[in-house]
Amino acid sequence: MCPTLSRENYFLTVINEISQHHVQKGSIEYELQALLLLVAESVRDKKGLNEATIAKINELFEQYQAVRLKVSIVPKLANLFGSDDSQGSSSEQILLHTEFVDSPDLLKRKYMEAIISLLEALERNAQLDLQTCIHCGHWFIPYQRAKVARFCSSNCRNRYHYAQRKKDKQKQQAYL
Ligand SMILES: [Zn+2]
Repeated sequence: MCPTLSRENYFLTVINEISQHHVQKGSIEYELQALLLLVAESVRDKKGLNEATIAKINELFEQYQAVRLKVSIVPKLANLFGSDDSQGSSSEQILLHTEFVDSPDLLKRKYMEAIISLLEALERNAQLDLQTCIHCGHWFIPYQRAKVARFCSSNCRNRYHYAQRKKDKQKQQAYL
């Protein structure tokens, strides 16, 4: 079994805060940010990932090896069945997992984890429904049962319709 590499849907958090990031053109952060947006836009626009994009992802994986393997000894989960085999060495188990080399506040690590989480989401569901809100531009994954998924929240839907009505009113008044 492959260990999970990233926090689930972490890419949404990162994409939605990109406007507050300052990255130097030509830096690895710049490349990673551009790639994250490219992949996200391809998914949103239902275009799939083409060979050039896949090659670019692999190139950056090679350039920045962000994840390493780790093995830990962890306490065994509480025994749900109450049998008494939780003594001594049997109360510990080995866990093979991965960890990021850099700390979570570093931009390049953020972008890399975001890209990985997006790829993991696509691995789980190739038809991933990714949208941008037509009112505020936020990226979101609509609830499965949402009928119309153009807004990230009911707030945005209300504000959008309020602004539309206001515009219509102004138009009407202009004709009077
Ligand atoms: Zn919104």
